[in-house]
Amino acid sequence: MNRGKALQLVKPHLTEHRYQHTIGVMETAIDLAKLYGADQQKAELAAIFHDYAKFRDKNEMRTLIREKLSQQDILFYGDELLHAPCGAYYVREEVGIEDEDVLQAIRFHTTGRPNMSLLEKIIFLADYIEPNRQFPGVEKVRTQAKTDLNGAIISSLVNTITFLLKKNQPIYPDTLATYNQLLLEQK
Ligand code: GDP
Ligand code: FE
Ligand code: FE
Repeated sequence: MNRGKALQLVKPHLTEHRYQHTIGVMETAIDLAKLYGADQQKAELAAIFHDYAKFRDKNEMRTLIREKLSQQDILFYGDELLHAPCGAYYVREEVGIEDEDVLQAIRFHTTGRPNMSLLEKIIFLADYIEPNRQFPGVEKVRTQAKTDLNGAIISSLVNTITFLLKKNQPIYPDTLATYNQLLLEQK
């Protein structure tokens, strides 16, 4: 699917703000794919559809997870996590994307998972550092992303986990497991 068609299909599902974020993720993911030798077309497609389910009804998504998806535990760590696995499902059903590499990158873009593929890492990081993001510390992660993909992901996880801890929010076990796996692999 070409870029224009993909953007046309995702746009009605997003707000203007979220659409601009999606464009930012797309451009950043393509840059990272060039830099680290990933498939640029897959990076473009996964980025365009990564937040496809961001505004879907939460009850509908909870029911979908209960009835059809394997990640049951994700139901217990906050509604923000639902759109990633549900997005992968809807993109397959409604848009007809069957490429498992692309679907996995969408499925794990919020939490990460241990032993992510190169494409999964690129979408995860592009979502965090795209130019419209203004988290504290994001500029440092942007710089690190130019030379150290895994290190930049660790930094983004430290920021996200710290943010969640400060707000007394639950931390999804695979988010911590992703952090541990990448950190231990570095040593
Ligand atoms: P966005 O969809 O582009 O906004 O970005 P994400 O897909 O990364 O979703 C971001 C949201 O997920 C934020 O509200 C984070 O706090 C939340 N989030 C990320 N990781 C975790 C986690 O491990 N546990 C919980 N509870 N929330 C998380
Ligand atoms: Fe998201
Ligand atoms: Fe996003």
